[in-house]
Amino acid sequence: MRVLITGGAGFIGSHLSDAYLARGDEVFVLDDLSTGSIDNIHHLKGNPRFHYTIESVHHRAAVAELVDQCDVVFHLAAAVGVKLIVESPVRTIETNVHGTEVVLAQANKKKKKVLIASTSEVYGLSNQVPFREDGNLVMGATTKGRWSYACSKAIDEFLALAYWREKKLPTVVVRLFNTVGPRQTGQYGMVIPTFVKQALTGRPITVYGDGTQSRCFAYVGDVVRALIALMDHEGAVGQVFNIGSTEEVTMRALAGRVKALTGSRSEIVFVPYAEAYEEGFEDMPRRVPDVSKISALVGFCPSVPLDDILTRVIAYFRGDVLPSD
Ligand code: UDP
Repeated sequence: MRVLITGGAGFIGSHLSDAYLARGDEVFVLDDLSTGSIDNIHHLKGNPRFHYTIESVHHRAAVAELVDQCDVVFHLAAAVGVKLIVESPVRTIETNVHGTEVVLAQANKKKKKVLIASTSEVYGLSNQVPFREDGNLVMGATTKGRWSYACSKAIDEFLALAYWREKKLPTVVVRLFNTVGPRQTGQYGMVIPTFVKQALTGRPITVYGDGTQSRCFAYVGDVVRALIALMDHEGAVGQVFNIGSTEEVTMRALAGRVKALTGSRSEIVFVPYAEAYEEGFEDMPRRVPDVSKISALVGFCPSVPLDDILTRVIAYFRGDVLPSD
């Protein structure tokens, strides 16, 4: 199979590239290196079944040419990280909405199956935890920059589902919950790489708010297996799936675990949201997926518990050699 991965030099995209190449498939990556990095795909450069194009998903001709050459498309290119989203809302909205329009329109011309990466962020302020795919999405006010990400991704979902209903383009939508593993940088605000780097360098571990907010962290290898299983399954077409772990942890407890596992002397400090992001910032108090839909279809079951994920991320930042996924 020939697989196009937009955002393939990103954290999840590069692991997806690894997995397809390991299966014997051919991988084409399109990435503008805005948040992705050439370092993530450096190890793949000598592989004759690996190809990459440094270009934006907004470039219609580049997307068209790559879609032509491939059998299926993973659209992962997007603005990522709450920090980046709050700081660059124009870029977030344009990248997420326009990029997806281009990819779907080009894929539709050749009727190539497309998997669109959406986000758990679309559940917004919903308190129907755990979140089910058919639950309500509850957005905050448009004056709060954070919600532009959720809204732009919700538009992507509507568009992908509309292409299936109206034009019979096979599309699959996934809502990725917090995903972690080697190659994820703390640069765009993600909490685990941030805490691990702080702990390893003896700097204060910065818990935002009062630290009672919780998340569930899935290992990137588990997430990649789920993406491939959904792409392979005919029954996934026209559907939305949560992908994530159900092991819930508060940020306060997470900071403590990172400190213990690194043996760090870092102090754990609490930083007000207004200072960490912007005045009036609204966080999601809990974010837990209901994964019964994907489990029923493809037997998805996260295999790496949080302590093991943390151990692998710590090893990565220490520069240790990691066991393969
Ligand atoms: N967070 C934190 N300290 C940090 C970075 C993030 O306490 O240095 C918190 C953040 O406010 C959120 C959670 O960790 O409640 C997860 O943040 P992340 O940006 O990783 O993902 P999100 O779930 O917000 O998309």
